[in-house]
Amino acid sequence: MEVCTCIVPCFNEEEAIPYYYEEMQKVMQKVPELDFELLFVDDGSCDGTLKILKELAQKDSGVRYISFSRNFGKEAALYAGLQNAGGDYAVTMDVDLQDPPSLIPEMYKVIQQGEYDSVATRRVTRKGEPKIRSFFARKFYQIINKMSDADIVDGARDFRFMKRSMVDAILSMKEYNRFSKGIFGWVGFKTKWLEYENVERVVGETKWSFWKLFRYALEGIIAFSTTPLSIVSVIGMVICFLSFILLLVIIIRALLVGDPVAGWPSLVCIITSLGGVQLLCTGIVGLYLSKAYLETKNRPIYIVKEKN
Ligand code: UDP
Ligand code: MG
Repeated sequence: MEVCTCIVPCFNEEEAIPYYYEEMQKVMQKVPELDFELLFVDDGSCDGTLKILKELAQKDSGVRYISFSRNFGKEAALYAGLQNAGGDYAVTMDVDLQDPPSLIPEMYKVIQQGEYDSVATRRVTRKGEPKIRSFFARKFYQIINKMSDADIVDGARDFRFMKRSMVDAILSMKEYNRFSKGIFGWVGFKTKWLEYENVERVVGETKWSFWKLFRYALEGIIAFSTTPLSIVSVIGMVICFLSFILLLVIIIRALLVGDPVAGWPSLVCIITSLGGVQLLCTGIVGLYLSKAYLETKNRPIYIVKEKN
């Protein structure tokens, strides 16, 4: 029988895990052709998550867990899950039931038809989310799709049903700065998109603050596009050109009219604005450099404390 591994990152989710487990039992019964394996990745939780996972693993041999030595982030948890997934198929999903497990039978049906290598999901509404968050999320997808050649779909979730070949492709991308939405798009493969309305968390609250999301968005742009660097070079060239023209104007004016002292305000404006532009550009270059620095250190993406 073919095996399907469900990879579930959990960070302080002691309340959500029982709901998830119960929901998955129903789904498993609906797809008797597949042998399911639930692989929970405890991302350094400080509540009772690990204890619950151990209890589950003890009474159900289909449950496996990996526990990190500290919180490494959801991306690291997904990577660890994919590395440890033994199945012919892998499904990545959240534990809070925002990725409805009830879609799995439909996803498997699509894969079985043979045309697609993966089935991904996107939510078409952002109901129940703060307005400002939705606004910035939309803007982010617009910007990154203009800048990057990885196809990153607006509203795409990390809820995905994949064949082994795609899992191997993702694992071959060993970068330290992981941005799964980009990686899924970058590896290609034929993907069918299922759409659904946003579902709110079953219990608990989101682990993503606005700033965490903002940093994540920046990381995504840096990981999958070098357009900001090109923009910086263009700004530099434009300013060089303008300053050359200005120089000519000033020389000619000085030769014709004299007037060497006036112009203090304009000088201050030019100096401060150029200083600002330079700092901005150095900052952007620095962001890329810092990512390259972390990449060359070759640190492990996660550290396992224990697993079964
Ligand atoms: N998560 C994780 N590590 C983190 C943050 C989140 O493993 O540092 C997990 C979390 O337990 C959940 C999933 O990632 O299963 C999605 O998190 P959350 O529901 O908080 O995000 P949202 O759905 O609000 O985007
Ligand atoms: Mg969630």
